[in-house]
Amino acid sequence: MQRWNDGRWAWRVVSVMMVVLSIIPSFHLSAQDYRAQAIRILRTVPLIDGHNDIPDAIRERGGLDSVNLAVSQPKLMTDIARLRRGAVGAQFWAAYVPSTTMDSGSHPAVYALEQIDLIRRLCASNARSMAMAYTAADVQRNFAAGKISCLIGIEGGHAIENSLGALRMFSNLGTRYMTLTHWRSLEWATASTDTARRGLSPFGKQVVLEMNRVGMLVDLSHVNDQTMSDALHTSQAPVIFSHSSARALTNHARNVPDSILKLVAANRGVVMVNFNPGFVSEAVRVYGDSVTARLDVLRAAGADSATRADSMKAWDARAPHATLAQVADHIEHIRQVCGVDCVGVGSDFDGITEVPVGLEDVSKLPDLLAELLRRGWTEAEVKKVAGLNTLRVMRDAERVAVEMRRPHR
Ligand SMILES: [Zn+2]
Repeated sequence: MQRWNDGRWAWRVVSVMMVVLSIIPSFHLSAQDYRAQAIRILRTVPLIDGHNDIPDAIRERGGLDSVNLAVSQPKLMTDIARLRRGAVGAQFWAAYVPSTTMDSGSHPAVYALEQIDLIRRLCASNARSMAMAYTAADVQRNFAAGKISCLIGIEGGHAIENSLGALRMFSNLGTRYMTLTHWRSLEWATASTDTARRGLSPFGKQVVLEMNRVGMLVDLSHVNDQTMSDALHTSQAPVIFSHSSARALTNHARNVPDSILKLVAANRGVVMVNFNPGFVSEAVRVYGDSVTARLDVLRAAGADSATRADSMKAWDARAPHATLAQVADHIEHIRQVCGVDCVGVGSDFDGITEVPVGLEDVSKLPDLLAELLRRGWTEAEVKKVAGLNTLRVMRDAERVAVEMRRPHR
């Protein structure tokens, strides 16, 4: 038995036992345990979601007199009870301005003002649970007081109607980010859903710099790759993607390609992963395209809407679904290409019609962090994804704004 007295053998036995012990807990921890761990983390760091469309969902349903988030809203993905169950610390509420307001006779700036008004009233009418926030410090103060921060993000740069004065006034009303375009391109910025290859015009670059100067985050979700690149080369402050996922995993124009992720790393910005099944699952995206093509064929053949719906029933039965694990895959891909400091969460809840299995509403957000813990992410890394990265970007943008406003010597 000479061997067992040999120090090397003893060391090998200890090493094997250490490996076994490090593996065993992962077999014993259940999904509930990881969720509990995620919730514990979210008592120390505010969970910040980059994009929720409940303001427009409320508007569509007749306004705040018709929809009260203080009571359960089972047909929506957001209400206060579920925000609390989801341990949400801060929410960028989208002041969404439809591209159709660019048509003549419409008033995108007024539409944006009405959305901002709705967000501010939503927050004020739920003052026991919510409070407005304009800075990173506000978010942390509200978090310490047990309140959900309400942050305003304008979705669609057409809201400023080509006026830097309007941009400055939107900032004064508390807007903390602006998505440069929505579905349609502007004169000064090109949308991802447009075939044009243009990027930012000289005026578009001025808009980006003025946003830097007033401390409004530049949101590059919805813009095309050239506009992303131009904005990243123009912006003096870190930028955000408030609700976009990784194009390497799902080949949708709304997602961020690896080449841009590398620029975001240098810019110290943050990409907040979108839950839209068509952005998260390549199978869902391809299926969606095939449904559109099939409907076009049926329409061209003169089929009425009842016949078209009937014909699509068999298709619906085999429709693929996105999953929570796939959303986690996007987070891991962005971490791999851009680094753990540049990834966050931008659900797009109540702006999407379908949801990934396991991420049905705001109450499920901790389950996504639980999945990262299950995959071996450290608590420090999970805290960054949950909110620390976005808080850092907000603080950096606030600092840049102060520097840019300082009189030149
Ligand atoms: Zn959007």
